[in-house]
Amino acid sequence: MKKHSALRIETLAIHAGHTPDPTTGAVMQPIHLSTTFERNPDGTYPAGYVYTRTDNPNRVALETCLTALEGGAAAAAFGSGMAAIAAIFQALAPGDHILFPDDAYFGAGRLVRELMAPWGLTYSVVNMADVDAVRAAMQPTTRLMWVETPSNPLLKITDIAAVAQIAHAAGARCAVDNTWPSPTGQQPLALGADLVMHATTKYLGGHSDLLGGAVIARAADAFFERIRLVQTIGGAAPSPFDCWLLMRSIRTLPYRMRAHSEHAQRIAEFLADHPAVESVHYPGLPGHPGHAIARQQMQQFGGMLSIQVRGGTDAAMRVAGRVQLFTRATSLGGVESLIEHRASVEGSHTTTPANLLRISVGLEHPDDLMADLAQALA
Ligand SMILES: *Cc1c(COP(=O)(O)O)cnc(C)c1O
Repeated sequence: MKKHSALRIETLAIHAGHTPDPTTGAVMQPIHLSTTFERNPDGTYPAGYVYTRTDNPNRVALETCLTALEGGAAAAAFGSGMAAIAAIFQALAPGDHILFPDDAYFGAGRLVRELMAPWGLTYSVVNMADVDAVRAAMQPTTRLMWVETPSNPLLKITDIAAVAQIAHAAGARCAVDNTWPSPTGQQPLALGADLVMHATTKYLGGHSDLLGGAVIARAADAFFERIRLVQTIGGAAPSPFDCWLLMRSIRTLPYRMRAHSEHAQRIAEFLADHPAVESVHYPGLPGHPGHAIARQQMQQFGGMLSIQVRGGTDAAMRVAGRVQLFTRATSLGGVESLIEHRASVEGSHTTTPANLLRISVGLEHPDDLMADLAQALA
């Protein structure tokens, strides 16, 4: 795989980063569990690998693949999505200001409040779906704008091109958590973002059996070198086995995402008409306030949606308690459908409505999923 630019994402997902093993001809890359690599008598390293925390063949393959999928210049893989977010924040300097969205992955908010603020970063929270509010919230020290679109758990839509322009005009970077749409649903770098972050735990992994994260950068610049330093010296590196598993999963990502999105659209339409449902949050619905922007900037609306059930917390808990096919569990992006009462898992700082259920639509037959929801809502 040399030239990536002209190839479609289905082809990149299968070929980028994959090369037959030069020593054995094995078509699939072996898992390089060795932590250390022998030097030549003259002190050089035969393949450039020294020690697995700093570099590993399986990690390089994964980073090559992710760089191609997001159309970036470089990527750094981490042991979790949170480690990837932390690396971006830690590449900033104490005193720098982060503009953070009012609806976002709960762990990212805790990271800013409980770890980065005590470390000297400042932040403010803004409605990222409102471009004027974003412009007004910029401060002279703002160096990073954090975007998550669709957001978790309300699926609010941020106009990436518009807010990236605001960031750049102020000398700040725009980073996008692209976990929910995945690279097949949204390409933030092409829209003007500087950094893309993934919890590879979710759709890229796709089977709820590995933890990982990644940062992909539009430019391999000094800021990305800081992120690389957090990876190699901070040390939150992914295991070679997890990198290998991801390479295996990513090959089917484009086809999984098509089905996740198609099923979620059907289920969102079904729930929008259901009398026991107060509201459905899904950007593929024409009535969603972010629908027009989502149509412009997304290739697919994704497999995640949330609903607010009529009757408050108890009614929502009752629905979650009655489903048979959906698994009651946190997380998302696997082939199996999950349902979660989000406020109770987020705990005391939550701003999530008490009657909200978050749904990760899997790859089961959508008619079976709808029948299950129908009996649970009855
Ligand atoms: C899960 C998730 C994360 C965190 O990833 P981990 O792998 O659990 O550390 C960050 N952002 C979003 C949108 C997520 O869904």
